[in-house]
Amino acid sequence: MAAKFEFYNTLSRKVEEFVPREGNKVSMYTCGPTVYHYAHIGNIRTYIMQDVLIKSLMYAGYDVKRVMNITDVGHLSSDADTGEDKVLAGAKREHKTVMEVAKFYTDAFFKDFDAVGNKRPDVVEPATNCIPEFIHMIEVLLEKGFAYVAGGNVYFDTSKLDDYYVFSSAVEKEQLAVGVRDDVEEDTNKKNKTDFVLWFTKSKFEDQALKWDSPWGVGYPGWHIECSCISMKHLGEYIDIHCGGVDNIFPHHTNEIAQSESFLGHKWCNYWFHSNHLNDKSGKMSKSKGAVLTVSVLKEKGYDPLVYRLFCLNSHYRKPLEFSFDALDNVAAAYNKLVKRVAELKEDGPVDEAVKKEFEERFLEAVSGDLNTSMAVTILYDALKADTNDATKLYLVNSFDKVLSLDLAGHAAALSDGPEVDPELLAFIEDAIERRKEAKKAKDFAKADAIRDELMQKGVEIKDTREGVKWNLI
Ligand code: AMP
Ligand code: ZN
Repeated sequence: MAAKFEFYNTLSRKVEEFVPREGNKVSMYTCGPTVYHYAHIGNIRTYIMQDVLIKSLMYAGYDVKRVMNITDVGHLSSDADTGEDKVLAGAKREHKTVMEVAKFYTDAFFKDFDAVGNKRPDVVEPATNCIPEFIHMIEVLLEKGFAYVAGGNVYFDTSKLDDYYVFSSAVEKEQLAVGVRDDVEEDTNKKNKTDFVLWFTKSKFEDQALKWDSPWGVGYPGWHIECSCISMKHLGEYIDIHCGGVDNIFPHHTNEIAQSESFLGHKWCNYWFHSNHLNDKSGKMSKSKGAVLTVSVLKEKGYDPLVYRLFCLNSHYRKPLEFSFDALDNVAAAYNKLVKRVAELKEDGPVDEAVKKEFEERFLEAVSGDLNTSMAVTILYDALKADTNDATKLYLVNSFDKVLSLDLAGHAAALSDGPEVDPELLAFIEDAIERRKEAKKAKDFAKADAIRDELMQKGVEIKDTREGVKWNLI
């Protein structure tokens, strides 16, 4: 039996006990990337927190099936239905075809997604694979009277719903109703301000490269329809958890619920998991801002991608997180110390079952209590300090890593796999590195250089990295 698990459900606006529809089986849908640019480290924060949710559920005994889409068509430059298709704009910018751009940025996305220790979804489906499914859903919505054709486009009629703003409190509903879309150019075809496009045949941007035949003319799908259809294609009429970043709540997830539940005639998803944004000093990170900071760029700057994962784990997923290199440097030093500490552990006997049980229970309580990841990391530190043998500590490091995915044991093994070094030389190197650090602190750079030369003479090369000084024998 799976353990008790709680997290914040945006639908009920409270931390709730999670009860899947079928025993310990969890069906989960997550909105994937729009592949017109590199995914920045903010996007990757969202995917790290979803990965922690999945792995925490697995730790608690659940069996999770996860589906993710790739938005390669239909996401316009504004989340309201105006502007140019983002992937098409990317293709123009880079003088490539739309499909070349989508493939390039999908590959780049997964490179960074994997590098931070995320488990791949069970199903990944690009929107352009599912045009017949989109057309079918739109046909049914028209038949049921939830949609209308105007000016060549098909729109969802939000006035047909009793409660369109499902995620909002009464006060927020009023504010949204007044404020919605006032900031964007009005589409005069819409009957209600909140109506949204299901299928476009008319757009200001006539050179839309990807178009398909449909009962309403040659055109392309709106953005929201893809997630409803792709989810149903692989997970059926019900899902347990739907994930995304907080910016997805409105309008994207609001519209997904409107069309899915109108199509199905029943409630679609019970739990909505939203993680908050990563900001830099100038505000929210955004792909459309141009130059983006990616996990690959962090790697080029000398940071291990798992240091970025630890940076994210140190904060709660529901709080905004501010990124700075100073903060990342501190986490890099902490990560390095953790790896060294794990490298010192020896397989020195049987695992102490009582200690193992106590710590695994504490860890489960942290992650199943609305994903308290910083507490989970603290418990890892506590386990390393615990009054027990090394074998038990090693066991716990590996057990916690099923969720944290910091690869501490792997990195520790890589450390100790280095060449056998004479203990006397090793002591000398460690002492020299320490002396050089002191010299640099005292701004005595001549002395620091002299120590580097001293090491060179003994055949030791040193390198300053974000995770501290590294050395190798030459
Ligand atoms: P996109 O590729 O723009 O569709 O975004 C992919 C995912 O990243 C979505 O779930 C967004 O909610 C999320 N996201 C966008 N911006 C940020 C940010 N600054 N911090 C965290 N997540 C974000
Ligand atoms: Zn989506």
